[in-house]
Amino acid sequence: MNPSLVSIVRYEKPYESVQKAVELAGGLSHLKPSDHVFIKPNIVFWTTKTVIPKWGVITTSRVMEDMVRLLKDLGIHHITIGEGSVTADPKDKETQFHAYEALGYKTLEKRYGIKCVSILARPFTKVDLGDGMKLSFSSDVLESDAVIDLPVLKTHAQTTVSLGIKNLKGTISIPSRKRCHNADPVMNLHRWVARLSDSMPPVFTLIDGIFSNERGPAFDGRMRRSNLLIASNDIFAVDKVGARVLGYAPDEVPHLKYYAERHQRPLDLSDVEVKGEALEDVADAYQYDFQYTEDGALPKPMAKMGIQGVSYYKYDLSMCTYCSGITGAVLTAISMAWKGQPWDDVEVLTGKQMSPRPGKKKTILLGQCMCKLHKDNPDIQEAILVDGCPPDPKAVVAAFHQAGIKVDPNIIENYEQLPGFLMARYKDKLEFEEAFFKIE
Ligand code: SF4
Repeated sequence: MNPSLVSIVRYEKPYESVQKAVELAGGLSHLKPSDHVFIKPNIVFWTTKTVIPKWGVITTSRVMEDMVRLLKDLGIHHITIGEGSVTADPKDKETQFHAYEALGYKTLEKRYGIKCVSILARPFTKVDLGDGMKLSFSSDVLESDAVIDLPVLKTHAQTTVSLGIKNLKGTISIPSRKRCHNADPVMNLHRWVARLSDSMPPVFTLIDGIFSNERGPAFDGRMRRSNLLIASNDIFAVDKVGARVLGYAPDEVPHLKYYAERHQRPLDLSDVEVKGEALEDVADAYQYDFQYTEDGALPKPMAKMGIQGVSYYKYDLSMCTYCSGITGAVLTAISMAWKGQPWDDVEVLTGKQMSPRPGKKKTILLGQCMCKLHKDNPDIQEAILVDGCPPDPKAVVAAFHQAGIKVDPNIIENYEQLPGFLMARYKDKLEFEEAFFKIE
């Protein structure tokens, strides 16, 4: 069998760099002008409330326009861009289009005659992925002739890396996303992610590494200007190379291990030919995980502050995006509420599989999954319930106040605005150009 081509190209110029990455990876000439092509960027989260730092989090509009232009130059008529971004309110159908407007996609619609859709406002088709695993995928994606997958070069706190395969999670419905974050110790998140590309039409992946993200996938990671593009017609091959670029051997990435097992592919690069830059010249070391104390009871920076009397256990694979979204704000609010006096042995349980620990006086059950599982648990001395999916920020504040932790309501109730405060990190850093997220 011929090896799969994966290109690694330094980003130097608009259009030409993307064109080179695509050509070295074997090109897209197999596409016919009549084909319907679906482009899936990575716009992991969006809000209308503030300007968010997009570097290393969101696919650059530069790469998006270059890819659209390339497809148009190949004579492709039917091009759709679609994403299923997470927003603060899962029922919100408007914010997706605000993202498209802000990222210049509306200009692309006018300039190139393409269309933009919100995946979460469109129909889904249930797909049987085997072993009883069923997920509802965007019908638009499944019915297209080809998918262009444009993930960002980033690590991920739960899945180690988030590249071509993981980016396809944005094409499934919200209930399906929750199913992926289940509490089954065997059929866990990694196994579901490993199957996300199985039912797809042919996928061409171009990893946008103009900016990259250490301790991703969100705004609170450490961003780098990396100027890399990595592309292939083989999603597994490009993910293996992308993982290496981020400093991880593919066998350190559980979903790549499961993919290899299922498709009987090697985990090393023996079935891959890298074109362009040498892998060892561009690979670097990225941490993927947020650092917690050894017992997993508190993030290390909070432990360093001397915070005592509260345990906010490390997230596990079962915590889905909506609960993750509020976590950063809650931890910030707890840190700011610390006045040097230990709180009254409070613990916070999140996700779908955590258990209370003996001796805790108050247990906050954050989210509907924890409430359902533990509301009558006899091991809990005082249960404080924050029901709902996602949990209501006002109820979160009330729960912490009931537990004696006087968090500032503004921080939690306006958690959508938190990414905006991180913009200050990039002020006067010329390598982080907002222009990459605009279409002129
Ligand atoms: S409550 Fe949280 S963990 Fe449970 S399904 Fe909702 S978002 Fe996921």
